[in-house]
Amino acid sequence: MDELGLDPLVNLLSAQGGWPMVMETWDPNSFSLSTALNNLRSLNVYPLIRVFISTDVFNTSRWLIFVDAGEIPTGVSVMGLVNNDMLAFYHTFMTSAAKMLRDSMGSSASDQDIDSQVNDVIEFEKKFSKIVMKAVNETTDNAWQTTVAELQEDTDAGTPQQFEWLSFLEEMFAETDITITRDEPLLSFKGPFFKDFSNLLATTDPKTLANAIGWWWVYDLQKETTYAMRNASHTYMQDFYGQSRSTPQWQHCLSITNGNMGFALSREYVDHFVPHTVKPEVKELVEDLREAFSFLLNNNTWMLPNDLQVAQEKLAAIDPYVAYPDWIMDDKQLAQGYEGLDLVNGKHINNLVHIGAWYNLNALAALRDVPEHSFLYPPTTVNSVYTTTQNSITILSGILQSPFYGHNSLAAVNYGSLGMIIGHEMTHGFDSIGRMYDKFGNLRQWWSNATIDAFNEHAMCFVKQYEKYVPPELSEIGLNITTLAENIADNGGIREAFKAYKAYVNRYGEEPTLPGLENFSPEHIFYLSFANPWCENKSPEMALQLLFLDAHSPGKFRVLGSLSNDEEFSKLRLDQWADWRQHHDARLVSQNFARTSQQKMDEINARISILLNCEMTNQ
Ligand SMILES: [Zn+2]
Repeated sequence: MDELGLDPLVNLLSAQGGWPMVMETWDPNSFSLSTALNNLRSLNVYPLIRVFISTDVFNTSRWLIFVDAGEIPTGVSVMGLVNNDMLAFYHTFMTSAAKMLRDSMGSSASDQDIDSQVNDVIEFEKKFSKIVMKAVNETTDNAWQTTVAELQEDTDAGTPQQFEWLSFLEEMFAETDITITRDEPLLSFKGPFFKDFSNLLATTDPKTLANAIGWWWVYDLQKETTYAMRNASHTYMQDFYGQSRSTPQWQHCLSITNGNMGFALSREYVDHFVPHTVKPEVKELVEDLREAFSFLLNNNTWMLPNDLQVAQEKLAAIDPYVAYPDWIMDDKQLAQGYEGLDLVNGKHINNLVHIGAWYNLNALAALRDVPEHSFLYPPTTVNSVYTTTQNSITILSGILQSPFYGHNSLAAVNYGSLGMIIGHEMTHGFDSIGRMYDKFGNLRQWWSNATIDAFNEHAMCFVKQYEKYVPPELSEIGLNITTLAENIADNGGIREAFKAYKAYVNRYGEEPTLPGLENFSPEHIFYLSFANPWCENKSPEMALQLLFLDAHSPGKFRVLGSLSNDEEFSKLRLDQWADWRQHHDARLVSQNFARTSQQKMDEINARISILLNCEMTNQ
């Protein structure tokens, strides 16, 4: 990459009409906003507007075009919170990248010109963030069924003729055989965004727009160029996000490869690291969790009987995708999966753009097909997912390793950690978002109003409980972050996993204690194993950013929150914890929790919570 220098990036920018701030002269007639936005789709980057193909949430047997607000490199929500120091770091980063490109091109653009155009881009991004955040607060319908013609009307309610949706979409689909008309159905959201968007376009110099879009190319690809560019990026990450060390290059390359060719990479991973026993073992876990969930559902006290029955049907219909899809294990099918993708040795940046364009074209060309349920994520990723429109859970190979899972490990360890994860994903089918989708993944009301009211009332207990949890380093910022769905999933997940573990013990017998940890019962080990993965160490800057980007509560509160409500956990004898603390010099705080939530109701009198810290989990 260093040998190739900045030429590949300069060439890419030139193909877009150039990045004005590094050019001696820039011709506004060479710039088309539509084309610029469509070209950036190859990087999977969506400034200003985000248009993508997804399953129709109201009828999952068809694809639909979704239209959403776009993003800026820092993230719109972060931009609303940054102080002047942080803005200065961002300014420095953009400026230094621009100067490096200018020098590499031999352009005579002056430092002063670059400086003032960087200022214009940042001012524009601030304004754009404001209209997106305003839309987030004022949006009335998040699943607004509309058409190209109606969206155009909504956009023109601001300043007319600033953005033509039909020609934009025609250009997007130009390489497919799909015809888009003014009647094409779209899914979007009803809010002030589109009107504000056209007003913002009307008051923004096209040169600033071209600069902001060019910046996305540079921002996204600078790590794929020279050492000096990567270094500038690292300095920025250090100053802006408090990142203490740069990601090693091999790690970055691995993540780029996984992100772009994850299924091919997964085949290598599975061949080397995933034993054949993993799939059947994890599938057994999934079914244990489903049974435990079903049992707990039957003991539910607030759903009407008919609604309970439909909930059971939805639970039974959850499709589990475990570890990896079989097609990647067949050489021929794997090769077919990448047909049409031609990568050229030594052309790293061009390859990335080519892969992005190839994915894009495949996705767009499928618009009139019937969506099939499938394994949607590269198995190498360390994650698991509930997909509302498929009513499926995906437990990826990447997460089937320590600390979440171990082949031949104690079941208490596996159920406490991976079992909880599986239960968490299943519970997503019934959380504040998942409950709105039926067993086929269609967005429709399938519970009676009375059950929904009872659900909301109980969900408020979680809201009240978790809003008390504010990371100490951020206590001065007024936060209003929605983590409700994830908190519900955590609370359900741990209860279901414990129940499933008990069923396992009934089936196979009591498990032995661990050598050196004889004072800890398997139940203790179960809860320790649950808490262990959520041990984390974050800078305040990163903690703040994650609060906005991550739908989950911070790790500490995921443990504290769900165990505070867990009846089985409250029954555990805790003198062992004290013993552990004495011997391992780990700080361990236990406290009695007043009963604040009615949702587990009568039986729970006292709740005990623990704060586990890293010294403990590093043992
Ligand atoms: Zn989740």
